[in-house]
Amino acid sequence: MHITADRERCVGAGQCVLAAPAVFDQDDDGLVAPLTLDPGSGEQEAVRQAVNVCPSAAIWIDKE
Ligand code: SF4
Repeated sequence: MHITADRERCVGAGQCVLAAPAVFDQDDDGLVAPLTLDPGSGEQEAVRQAVNVCPSAAIWIDKE
């Protein structure tokens, strides 16, 4: 799995961090700061949940 995070779209809601804390973090401005762009198999469900709950569609899976 590979993900993309578009910081231009991010509104700093933090939902991705709650859903997948091993994959997403927020920087000092509150914008998404991925800890990895290649989450391991154990994180896939959490990543999918994070993508679904992001209110600004700022994160997505670009390769399964
Ligand atoms: S859930 Fe979306 S808008 Fe909120 S911090 Fe994560 S990427 Fe940004």
